[in-house]
Amino acid sequence: MQPPIHNQPPRPGLWLRAGFLAGALLAMGRATPVVLRFYGTGGLGDQTLSQGYSFFLAGLWIAAPILIVGAGLCAHRPGLRWPLFLLAGSVSLAWIAHWLPYDSVFAPSLEGWRGWGLICSLGLVAAASAAVGVWGSGESRVAKTGGGVAAALSVTVLALHLGADRSPGRWPERPNLILISLDTLRADRLGSYGSDLGATPNLDAFAQHAVRFENAYSAAPSTLPSHMTMLTGLSPSRHGVTRDLGLPGELPTLPELLKEEGYATLAVVDTCVWLTGRFGFTRGFDLYRRVAEPTQAKAAQALEVLDLVQGTPFFLFFHTYDAHSDMHGLPYHAAPSDRERYAGWYQGEFDGCNEEGVCASEYLRLLNERGDLPAQAERRFIECLYDAGVRTLDRDLALLFDGLQARGLLENSVIAITADHGEEFFEHGKALHASYYAECTTVPLLVHTPDTPEQPGTAAPLVSHVDLLRTFLDYAGGSDPSPSSDFAASAGRSLRPWLEGGTGPERPFMPFDRFGRLLALRTPEAAVVRTRGEWFLERESGTLPLEDVPSEEREGWMTWIGIEEAELASAMARIGRTSKRSKVQRPTATEDRELRSLGYTGDD
Ligand SMILES: [Zn+2]
Repeated sequence: MQPPIHNQPPRPGLWLRAGFLAGALLAMGRATPVVLRFYGTGGLGDQTLSQGYSFFLAGLWIAAPILIVGAGLCAHRPGLRWPLFLLAGSVSLAWIAHWLPYDSVFAPSLEGWRGWGLICSLGLVAAASAAVGVWGSGESRVAKTGGGVAAALSVTVLALHLGADRSPGRWPERPNLILISLDTLRADRLGSYGSDLGATPNLDAFAQHAVRFENAYSAAPSTLPSHMTMLTGLSPSRHGVTRDLGLPGELPTLPELLKEEGYATLAVVDTCVWLTGRFGFTRGFDLYRRVAEPTQAKAAQALEVLDLVQGTPFFLFFHTYDAHSDMHGLPYHAAPSDRERYAGWYQGEFDGCNEEGVCASEYLRLLNERGDLPAQAERRFIECLYDAGVRTLDRDLALLFDGLQARGLLENSVIAITADHGEEFFEHGKALHASYYAECTTVPLLVHTPDTPEQPGTAAPLVSHVDLLRTFLDYAGGSDPSPSSDFAASAGRSLRPWLEGGTGPERPFMPFDRFGRLLALRTPEAAVVRTRGEWFLERESGTLPLEDVPSEEREGWMTWIGIEEAELASAMARIGRTSKRSKVQRPTATEDRELRSLGYTGDD
């Protein structure tokens, strides 16, 4: 077949070149200052944001010469004109459609000239394509059709973009989402939860504008599985993340789901070994910054990061370790004035170390291992040191709250403040956090939304960190990840009904599982906890073996245990069939030492 012959002067080629060149330059002009700003912050490391923009820029710089050369060839090699045009047009349209409307949300917003830049570049592509379709293809049906299709696609993308921008409840109206995890903070230390310690004035001020969930629980008394539950909405057995296993690739995380909704996804977390990419924590985050300094410095960095995404809906995951037990000296650290206020009464000899020179968290871990109990005064002293640390943490949080307020973000965001677990002070003979008793699994959960009423009050349903993901997605307008077929008790649900002053479907009990084993069941009044293979009933009046409980009550608990164990077994069978667990690199010797000195022992 004869190639089409073009005798016309290359007027459409000029249009094409001008259109593509202008589009490419606009896009590059749009991306470059963003990249420079983010690289200038110096905190990106290997994170996804820098990779994303590297790909973006690389793609543009590859696409631009292809387009220009292609357009040039159009003028001189008529046989190549239309294949190249279609290729270049498709690539550039796909590029613009895929990247600009969605991924650019963590760049400065599409308001003002930037938005017009996008619209103009799309318009130029549309105009150039239409020009080719109308004027440039008298001899070629393929070209005419191609030009028409390209023009139609451009206009469609343009219309979708404009439509998406303006429809109510979408992009500009969606609230910012902030998840603040204050590691190891017991609920009963907050004034809003009834404490008279006076240790949390800033958190209490926040609580006045938030719904307080008085029966909120972490999914596990441990940093790694608990945080993974917050970000996946799955119980620890179902996400399966342990010291040796990372998050399976097919399980979506909250930042990944929010990113699909156009959110900028940002994290400022502690440098602890657990919250790292090897377990899957960095997945879906545009920027994941690990900060070693205390809360105040983390708050400053978080605010700096938020300034980079002004005008764009964002999800911020903020985590701080300051209330956690420490590595050196005394078990819990605090500002000297706070230590004096809460623990200054202690005149004994305990300086955080035993006679073998084992100190701080490692000392508490050793007590746990040996089943030793310090004297009453020392136990009290250790607890008061923790209280002092909570006071220091709260004081440092003021910078974050003030910064959010100054930016108008305190009122207009969905903000959930919680802890990944609590802490024990020998109530059941142990220190630190490993048991499923109330001291380790009860957590604060304060949630503020832009719709929070004047006097938000409290909500009493049994809730857990499995509910956070669906709550945030509800506000973001995102779709639920694959609906859970799990029994209602363990599946997450949105807390929005309670946040709007109403009620929603309640659980009869909250199950706790790990490694495919049921470890506790909790109601607002009581819990059964598995300890060394035996079930114990935990009530306000005390803890006793379940077999010593009157038979009617015992059988009620045993029925629930049976139901939940069967559900868990079938969930595990499903997971076993579908999930590819990813082995993680073991902690290095240095990390292992760090973990031991923070009081971690065995499998996590
Ligand atoms: Zn923790």
